[in-house]
Amino acid sequence: MEINELKKRITNYDGKKIRIMEVCGTHTHEIFRLGVRSVLPQNIELISGPGCPVCVTPVGFIDEAVYLAKTGKSIFTFGDLVRVPGSKESLASARQNGAKVEIVYSPLDALQYAKNYLDEEIVFLSVGFETTTPASLLALKQAIADDVKNFSLLTANKTMDEAYRIMAKSADAYLYPGHVAAITGADKLEKLKDMGISGVVAGFSAKNILQAIYLIIEEIKRGVPFFGNAYENVVKPEGNKAANELVKIYTHPIDTEWRGLGVLKNSGLAIKEEFSNFDARKKFNIPDIKGQANPACRCGDVLSGKILPRDCPLFSKVCTPEHPIGACMVSNEGSCAAFYRYGV
Ligand code: SF4
Repeated sequence: MEINELKKRITNYDGKKIRIMEVCGTHTHEIFRLGVRSVLPQNIELISGPGCPVCVTPVGFIDEAVYLAKTGKSIFTFGDLVRVPGSKESLASARQNGAKVEIVYSPLDALQYAKNYLDEEIVFLSVGFETTTPASLLALKQAIADDVKNFSLLTANKTMDEAYRIMAKSADAYLYPGHVAAITGADKLEKLKDMGISGVVAGFSAKNILQAIYLIIEEIKRGVPFFGNAYENVVKPEGNKAANELVKIYTHPIDTEWRGLGVLKNSGLAIKEEFSNFDARKKFNIPDIKGQANPACRCGDVLSGKILPRDCPLFSKVCTPEHPIGACMVSNEGSCAAFYRYGV
């Protein structure tokens, strides 16, 4: 169906109110950037979910990274994490005070640095979902193959399944993230239908997002749980076997904490014991650190779809991208950052 026809049909929807959770932070930003919200009638509500990896990473992880930085390790990370507030300080402030914190675009860049500077201990901060985890594990595999002894990962990698389950009551249907689905495969998501969980996989173009929303509208009319794939050219039933194989070889599932959602069963990935020389937590005996987020920040409520960013009293007054109070305002994928940038 052509995009103008999709827009017309969605705008003319006059059925019961539908709540759609766009799980992924990239969707949140693209929906604003592409003007998708302007097409929606009042009875279709989009809410953000827990799919921004930096946002759901708990404060304690930042504290662990700061601890390593302040005890002489060289921290390599994607840029978003640097300004996320920890309990007392961020990696940015640790860097201002002399710690070494470097931004890289790939874990393999960090590994290359480790090979070039053997007198430094390089720790790569491995956060994210099914999309980014394989890249970290590829670096781990290479480090093992090349016997690189001064490289390790500090992990906070997560998987989405349990989050889909516990958030299911927050919305009528999910807009499933296309890039995560490309790794996990459509079959895995389709099985959620048997638990009464509905959703449609969407890519990231305006037409693709609108197709997914239209499919949700049509399926909801039928009144039974459903699954749809509006990104079939990328998301295949079986997913990416090579990426999933890396996860199986090097990690095992653990219960892990999500900002705003608490500890979710089997929703994290830890490095297996036999590779513990590459697990920064074990290699450097990091003490048990309990992080304490700023109590005024409502990032957790935003991530669980309870409030919109503008409902947070600090939004745009005290908390801005220049002076973020919580992770949701720092990350490029954060909902608070999206609402701020697009002036909603
Ligand atoms: Fe937290 Fe700032 Fe978002 Fe409020 S606006 S929830 S303080 S990140």
